[in-house]
Amino acid sequence: MSGLPSIRIGRVFGIPVEINVSWFLIFLLVAVTLTTGYFPQQLEGRSMLTYAVMGLVTTLAFFASILLHEFAHSFVARAGGIRISKVTLFIFGGVAQMEEEPHRPGLEFVMASAGPGTSLLLAAVLYLAGEALFALHAPPSLVVVIDYLVVINLSVGVFNLLPGFPLDGGRMLRAILWRMSGDLLKATRWASRMGQFIGMGLIAVAVLGVLLFQTFDLIWFAVMGWFISGLATTAYQQQVVRSRLADVPVARIMSSPPMLVPAELTLEEMAHSYFLGGRHTRYPVITDGTVTGLVDIKAAQGVPREKWPYTAVSEVARTDLSELLVTLETTVDLILPRLDPSQVGVVLVVDDGRLAGIVTRADVIRLIRETDGDAT
Ligand SMILES: [Zn+2]
Repeated sequence: MSGLPSIRIGRVFGIPVEINVSWFLIFLLVAVTLTTGYFPQQLEGRSMLTYAVMGLVTTLAFFASILLHEFAHSFVARAGGIRISKVTLFIFGGVAQMEEEPHRPGLEFVMASAGPGTSLLLAAVLYLAGEALFALHAPPSLVVVIDYLVVINLSVGVFNLLPGFPLDGGRMLRAILWRMSGDLLKATRWASRMGQFIGMGLIAVAVLGVLLFQTFDLIWFAVMGWFISGLATTAYQQQVVRSRLADVPVARIMSSPPMLVPAELTLEEMAHSYFLGGRHTRYPVITDGTVTGLVDIKAAQGVPREKWPYTAVSEVARTDLSELLVTLETTVDLILPRLDPSQVGVVLVVDDGRLAGIVTRADVIRLIRETDGDAT
């Protein structure tokens, strides 16, 4: 996301939550704008400290609302059998990262609508709470904060419902087109075009604001528009690649397995016969002919050098292979998330319990190059 690093702040309901560095900028901007501009206008005659506390509380609640929106997407996805790798907050809001795309238009529709639905529901609940507090003569500072959160959640809900892919509304549109046409790629093309169109529209609104009303208040629209337009283009290109890869079984692109490492070998022996001079940094580990693990050069480096002669490969190998094993018929699109550099970066293809081959990023890149060649 925008190339900046993210900081993991913990897990919520088992899902890792990350904050991108770009988010701190927007946090600061919102907090300062509220403290120095919005709240003093809404509520006169309070101390600077009161405004600052209000600003901070509101900004935190604002981002908690965005997290709730993302968690709504995540929960529906998880209920539909899709794994969520993490939720990230960044400068333009939040994103729930799925390990794969939904396989059914129905699930995509419900998953996409859960976010804006939650934001709108939150706005409604907060609105009623604000009215009740006002009637009960609660401190005005509290009512003003809640009123602001109503507007924010309403805006987040409505904005995300704009029917341009990859906004939530665009995903809902894509799901409908997908259901109607039965063609995911075509549906993505139309929904992405709407995304580009909406992006341009937002830029146009900002430009008109400057030209007609001499105001820069809408300049944020231009930034968002430019961002959405770019996302729409990228998302479509990714879908093109993914659709092509959905036709190719891993058996067609796998490389023959590198040397297998017996589980009982010591790290010392392995270093000599495999890592030194070997082309690979990872090797499958076998016990009695079946694959039981995967050993990485990094794992061996984690063990002090003098212990290498006494440490068996099986002690440092990754033995949970549930996510790494695939069959010959598995299509390439399904293994993409697992080849991400942040993941293990390799899948093991097994046939009848025997290792038939391995697939790495390089194999997929080669395939993408080939299919590009076919197209031109
Ligand atoms: Zn959303």
